[in-house]
Amino acid sequence: MDVTRLLDGLNEPQREAVAAPSGNSLVIAGAGSGKTRVLVHRVAWLIEAEGVSPHGVLAVTFTNKAAAEMRQRIEELLDLSVRTMWVGTFHGLAHRFLRMHWAEARLPQNFQILDADDQLRLVKRVMRTLDIDEQKWPARQAVWFINAQKDEGKRAHEVPVGDDLFQITHKKIYENYEALCEQGGLVDFAELLLRSHELWLTDAGLLAHYQQRFHNILVDEFQDTNAIQYAWLRVLAGQSANVMAVGDDDQSIYGWRGAKIENIQRFSQDFANTTSIRLEQNYRSTGTVLKAANALIGNNFDRLGKELWTAGEQGDPIRVYSAYNDLDEARFIAQRAQEWITAGGSAADIAILYRSNAQSRVLEEAMLRAQIPYRIYGGQRFFERAEIKNALAYMRLLYDRHSDTAFERVVNTPPRGIGEKTIEAVRSIARGRSVSLWQASKDAIADGDLAARARDKISVFLGLIDDMDAAAKAMSLHELADHCIDASGLMEYHGRERGERGLARKENLEELVSACRQFSGELVFPAPADEESDTSMLAEFLDSVALDAGERQADGGPALQMMTLHSAKGLEFPLVFLSGMEEGLFPHRMSAQEPGRIEEERRLCYVGITRAMQNLYFTHAETRRMHGTDAYNRPSRFLQEIPKDLMEEVRLGGSVQRHSGGSARVSSSGLMDEAAVGLRMGQRVLHAKFGEGVVVQAEGSGERARVQVNFAQAGAKWLMMGYANLETLD
Ligand code: ATP
Ligand code: MG
Repeated sequence: MDVTRLLDGLNEPQREAVAAPSGNSLVIAGAGSGKTRVLVHRVAWLIEAEGVSPHGVLAVTFTNKAAAEMRQRIEELLDLSVRTMWVGTFHGLAHRFLRMHWAEARLPQNFQILDADDQLRLVKRVMRTLDIDEQKWPARQAVWFINAQKDEGKRAHEVPVGDDLFQITHKKIYENYEALCEQGGLVDFAELLLRSHELWLTDAGLLAHYQQRFHNILVDEFQDTNAIQYAWLRVLAGQSANVMAVGDDDQSIYGWRGAKIENIQRFSQDFANTTSIRLEQNYRSTGTVLKAANALIGNNFDRLGKELWTAGEQGDPIRVYSAYNDLDEARFIAQRAQEWITAGGSAADIAILYRSNAQSRVLEEAMLRAQIPYRIYGGQRFFERAEIKNALAYMRLLYDRHSDTAFERVVNTPPRGIGEKTIEAVRSIARGRSVSLWQASKDAIADGDLAARARDKISVFLGLIDDMDAAAKAMSLHELADHCIDASGLMEYHGRERGERGLARKENLEELVSACRQFSGELVFPAPADEESDTSMLAEFLDSVALDAGERQADGGPALQMMTLHSAKGLEFPLVFLSGMEEGLFPHRMSAQEPGRIEEERRLCYVGITRAMQNLYFTHAETRRMHGTDAYNRPSRFLQEIPKDLMEEVRLGGSVQRHSGGSARVSSSGLMDEAAVGLRMGQRVLHAKFGEGVVVQAEGSGERARVQVNFAQAGAKWLMMGYANLETLD
């Protein structure tokens, strides 16, 4: 076989790295210069040209998604399956190792992984038993403390005692937390690495076995390894493995979690005869995108320093959109995404990136409304969670008794003693008569077709739904949701669920109620505002949720991707939206408090910009709902650090609305046709039913003109101008 084909599509320094003789190597280079490509080709080269067994290769990267992609690209290059290869994240590989050696690691065989949520809840529990005041000592901070210690390789007893209260308190929490985990066979993320590292240090035989096996170790995104990960690598590599590390100091974005850029410098000292390789040509982005990235990152100090160039074209300017608020921002993004798709592009070409996960819901809803298929990374989509689906099933039954999926889902959830046999009997009646399960149940009760006990249980369920419905008649949508969750017993049921998970489920159910509240605030009433019918509101809501239902996600069709900037590392997309470009959000307000953190935020912005291949948008909002209050944020300083001539401001509809006074500059959003509507943004108005409010958005004109008003009492509402009879104030 001709192995030189593995060098096709590589430039000179890339080839050098791929075909290097054995030894250690370090590739430090800018974004999009082909580092990951080199790493993948190197693995293929080792296997095909050097005859290394796939079994003897270990490759680490940062996210599961990147790992899956890496594996796939290797298989494509080699045209064979490499399932036995250890390709994964540090956590994933450490987990695999502990699953195989649980006994040696003194873990129960069925040890349970604690995710971040579970861990927080457990820490809270520890603090409650220790009677530590959460107001004074936030649980999140305690979690940070524990993880930071573990990331440094420290067990609770190894934490120095010190005489300050902070250290003493947190050490105590760590000790008790550790004991609880030990007792329950619970393993948090940091523990995976710490424990496997310890195991290697204490079990020489086991270590020797793995050192024998993994003669080739490759690490992507090396700039973000923390102390324990680095130690883990060093121990495993021992004296004889060949290690290739690739990374970019300008993309180090996990300092806040203990990642050490210094590991780049240490590498050449710790790993003998390291060959350094530089890559400078960018193959990913347009000249404009690259210039913006270079200019931005030029504001950081202490860089290893490297310039990137591209032979590609300059491309379009970067577009900047100032939205009136976060809803407007989301709507704008959805609209531009839609245009891309209409023009023949794929939804899969598009990524929306944000600094904080909390931004995703508004964006998610805009995608739903625009019917753009999307996928959210990091976290299950809200409406797909079991408890939410249960609640929605009750809501659907109120609206439509004959929904069989809803009936099936909750007839015995929470458990009410209706067994599979009874349900099967009802199903069979339904099939025989071609009626719904609901109707079949009623018939069976009337005809005495069920055993007495089953009949009683089923009638209790039917009665429950009817009673809930009767009570809900006079309720608004969110009250109805609240009522369903309570009266059905779901809240109590999920709250009782094993471990800390139950609490998370309860919180999600509460979040559903707020989602309903927000939904009814946004909905345009087709009927005059004072005749709003909640049945139609419920139907609208259920429809909007149903659009979100599994099939588009499950069938793996092309979908727009939404994720945090952190999880976008290493990826690339033709069209990228960087949303929430605001001071306080990005750079994050926490970053002002610690030296060096602004620089890390800037690197994060560099990562975001360099994801874009063709087109890039920056968006920011004048006001944004954050943590339940309206925040007025200035545009991000990062926008000012990018040369003006690379950017172009987007204006919509030509009618730019500005309202005077205050710092809240209302910009081009909203599409308000002032002449037709007779109102301006920020206008105070009076509504007969909802009272006083402020106009925050408007769309359409003439007959179809509608405005969104933020009412002091009733919250945000969309109103048809033709019906609303708004009186203007001031
Ligand atoms: P990041 O720092 O963002 O992780 P990277 O350095 O890992 O980026 P890659 O993702 O490997 O860069 O490559 C960026 C893009 O450029 C990919 O689409 C890749 O296929 C392409 N590419 C890399 N090298 C070449 C080359 N020599 N010829 C053509 N395309 C290339
Ligand atoms: Mg990469």
